[in-house]
Amino acid sequence: MNTKSVDVLIIGAGPSGCVSAAYLHQKGLTVQVIEKSKFPRFVIGESLLPRSMEHFKEVGLLDCLEAMNFEKKKGARFIRNEEVCLFDFSKKYTEGWNWTWQVPRADFDKALADEIIRKGVDIAFEWAVTDIKFEGTNSKTTIKDNQGNEKTINAKFVIDSSGYGRVLPRLLDLEKPSPLPKHSSIFTHVKDSNRPLGKEGTIITFDVVKPQVWIWVIPFSNGNTSIGVVGPTEFIESYKGNTTEMLSEMLKLSKHYYNRFKGVDFLFDPICIKNYSKSVKQLYGEGYALTGNSSEFLDPVFSSGVAFATESSLVAAKLVARQLNGEKVDWENEYTNHIKKGVDVFSSYVKEWYTENLQTLFFHRPENPEIKEKICAVLAGYVWDETNPFVKKHDRAVSSMAHLIRMESQQ
Ligand code: FAD
Repeated sequence: MNTKSVDVLIIGAGPSGCVSAAYLHQKGLTVQVIEKSKFPRFVIGESLLPRSMEHFKEVGLLDCLEAMNFEKKKGARFIRNEEVCLFDFSKKYTEGWNWTWQVPRADFDKALADEIIRKGVDIAFEWAVTDIKFEGTNSKTTIKDNQGNEKTINAKFVIDSSGYGRVLPRLLDLEKPSPLPKHSSIFTHVKDSNRPLGKEGTIITFDVVKPQVWIWVIPFSNGNTSIGVVGPTEFIESYKGNTTEMLSEMLKLSKHYYNRFKGVDFLFDPICIKNYSKSVKQLYGEGYALTGNSSEFLDPVFSSGVAFATESSLVAAKLVARQLNGEKVDWENEYTNHIKKGVDVFSSYVKEWYTENLQTLFFHRPENPEIKEKICAVLAGYVWDETNPFVKKHDRAVSSMAHLIRMESQQ
């Protein structure tokens, strides 16, 4: 059997795996990425947050993305019947990037993977990690290809960026039920032949069609648009038929988009992901760290998935580089506590979205520009800025404001 030894083994070549790999390679460490599929491959998660632009820039992955001419995302629009709330990332409390992209992930992830290969990182495509044995911080990983061939990789550290593959959570029994309510989603891409000209055609929109149910519309620069419905699992399951029939029926709930997408062909059979929220018992252990979706996934409503994937992978890669350089690393403080801080802020916003407190704030008129810019900073992914009271007091700020608005409207 073939054996190879490297400093760091990374499972998965999504944005999380590519950011870690680019950083560690920059630091002169030997890296092996193992990727189960062949790229380009479809994955959901197409609306990015400005925060992740910092990560791509820091590891030298921004230029390859700029060359792709993806649709620019300068904010986000939320609509509920006739009410509209528009966030503009240039009007946010925290300093930082004012824009990002709306991306078909097959192209986006391939651009990242191609670039790290060009820089000299080895990605083994169509090889899946099937087993890992740890001896202290050292590990022996078994990988398998489609023909059943096996190889072993010895590594001093493993970063699990396997997304919904959740390799280490499964192998090491780290899965934990998410505290969020059970929600599901059904989505596809369409050839957006009725796309209106101008901003209306390209703006990313979250259309609230029922208090707990919303539709995303994410237009891409290639003329296609991603559409998806998100809601409680029992709501999604209440629709009968195949996924095309289910999604076609659900789209009728959108007054705003019904005509645009009526009769438009789906580019693939809609995919349904049930109970998508995931959590884990721990984010690291001796010789490994979990990053991106293989650790925690909350909810798509604020597009935080990729930003967390790249934040966690960059922080983890920095800690791995220091540890392999002989430094003592406090993983609990420097990794878990940091990631948990951001996850806790977004968890509060996700919860408050579904309690409708956040919707009360979004659609209340007249708008309060000072509050709006603080919430806008959160929606841009700047959830570690504790000078922002809507970050620091995330568990109370939204509900208190919504309470005040309701009291006011009763007077
Ligand atoms: P992935 O991008 O999933 O990459 C993991 C890689 O690991 C894959 O390529 C996979 O093939 C590989 N792999 C898996 N198992 C193995 C194995 N055994 N061996 C080797 N390789 C393996 N996020 C956003 O930021 N914006 C959004 O708009 C958004 N919308 C979403 C909508 C829905 C309905 C859902 C469920 C999620 C959404 N997300 C969104 C979240 C987003 O999908 C993820 O957060 C993001 O893709 C995580 O990136 P990653 O690199 O961790 O994992």
